[in-house]
Amino acid sequence: MKNFFDVIVIGGGHAGTEAAASSSRVGASTLLITSKKSTIGQMSCNPAIGGLGKGHLVKEIDALGGIMGQAIDKSGIHFKVLNQSRGPAVQGPRAQADRDLYKKEIQQQLFSIDRLVVYEETVLKFDISNKNCLNIYISNGSKLSCKALVLTSGTFLKGLIHIGKNKISAGRIGEPSVDELSESLKKLNLSLGRLKTGTPPRIYKDSINWKGLQKQKGDKIPQMFSFLNEDVFVKQIDCYLTKTSAKTHEIIRDHINLSPLYNGSIDGVGPRYCPSIEDKIIKFPDKKSHQIFLEPEGLTSDLIYPNGISTSLPEKIQDQIVASIPGLESSKIAQYGYAIEYDFVDPRSLLRTLEVKSFPGLFLAGQINGTTGYEEAAGQGLIAGVNAAIRSFGEEPDFILLRNTSYIGVMIDDLVTKGVKEPYRMFTSRAEYRLSLRSDNADQRLTDIGIKFGLIDKRRKNLWMEKKEKISFIKKTLLN
Ligand code: FAD
Repeated sequence: MKNFFDVIVIGGGHAGTEAAASSSRVGASTLLITSKKSTIGQMSCNPAIGGLGKGHLVKEIDALGGIMGQAIDKSGIHFKVLNQSRGPAVQGPRAQADRDLYKKEIQQQLFSIDRLVVYEETVLKFDISNKNCLNIYISNGSKLSCKALVLTSGTFLKGLIHIGKNKISAGRIGEPSVDELSESLKKLNLSLGRLKTGTPPRIYKDSINWKGLQKQKGDKIPQMFSFLNEDVFVKQIDCYLTKTSAKTHEIIRDHINLSPLYNGSIDGVGPRYCPSIEDKIIKFPDKKSHQIFLEPEGLTSDLIYPNGISTSLPEKIQDQIVASIPGLESSKIAQYGYAIEYDFVDPRSLLRTLEVKSFPGLFLAGQINGTTGYEEAAGQGLIAGVNAAIRSFGEEPDFILLRNTSYIGVMIDDLVTKGVKEPYRMFTSRAEYRLSLRSDNADQRLTDIGIKFGLIDKRRKNLWMEKKEKISFIKKTLLN
């Protein structure tokens, strides 16, 4: 086992994979170390990428040579641009993924990158010897060192799952939480807080009565996320729409005291724009019904993800809720919904490079910075990875995107200047330059910057150069 690297990335989630990919692309010898190799690129919650604001982030990641756009194009089973009735600036590309295929694509891309090594180990703690040497201590007793460290531990820091009265220490269902890392961060005097998120129960596909449910088709001409792709790679399938009934609302109201969100068991603040079904019913009492999208988890999966009923109510009540929904009357739950609380670091302790202000060489990216969402995590990962590589070369990190060039720039500026009071997710309304920051022009805004920093491979560079020439020819012709 090699024990010294330019850059070590802890965590193989959405932030960690982009960080490891970008750091190695710009030339740093990089180690990605993660607790379970098989979960690299795993979607903890909904099997979908993109959406309003989030779709912009994915296109920007792709324009900078990241891996998320390619992975979702290759695993997407239902593509739809949201907000098509509005102007192009606020439209959001979104795709349902085949969950397993998405993970496979991310792993295939990562494992083929030069200079990138992947170890399966849990990092117990880290410390900083000096500006040029950070150490991590792993579960097999070894110490590994690097010149720059990127921490992307997601929801795993003191993760605590809630299902009714049950509390389980875990980073996500079936995976242990990591607690000591929080102590390493506290020792550096970084300020930590608690946030929460949640997920709905998963339902067996063959237990749903599909008759009478409204079919949701994908777009006739699917829009790809990657500027390298023009068409889908796998079979496309439909989603279905159902909604909560008066009975659903009654069950939830009658048992609200059993919800950890409402009986004081959860301290962490949840995402306002991704609320649990308990929250929707209590906070919007006049609403007679809430939509639920029944989204397949994959082409061969026997599971359906009911988007819209995230809950931490006890299992018995989740059974009743599901049975009260049209089409799901006889449904069987494969995995109950849950809420999870975790530690995050106040992102105001970071520079725009995502380096910790008081500890050069230490970078944080993803959910640990108070964001929620795969795309937000991936965008930060890409930035942190490049800057960590630059730091490891002995230079001052300067890969910074500004608010007028990108949604990634908006997100990072918001995080480091305002901090977070609730899990931060991207919206088009956060970007004051949104009229010029469309998802379809991400390459025009960012690919040249990617070339300058060494992120762009030959194929993408050539395609971009050809497109740039065409754009400039059309502009000249129109002006003459
Ligand atoms: P993660 O994807 O969590 O990845 C962290 C990685 O780090 C994992 O691979 C883990 O194994 C590894 N790791 C952690 N600690 C260590 C260590 N010490 N040593 C080695 N490896 C380590 N987002 C939404 O936008 N909408 C939602 O509805 C939503 N619901 C969610 C519900 C649940 C239950 C969960 C858990 C998350 C939910 N999210 C949701 C959030 C979304 O999953 C995250 O925002 C996203 O995955 C964050 O990416 P990340 O890379 O920061 O962390």
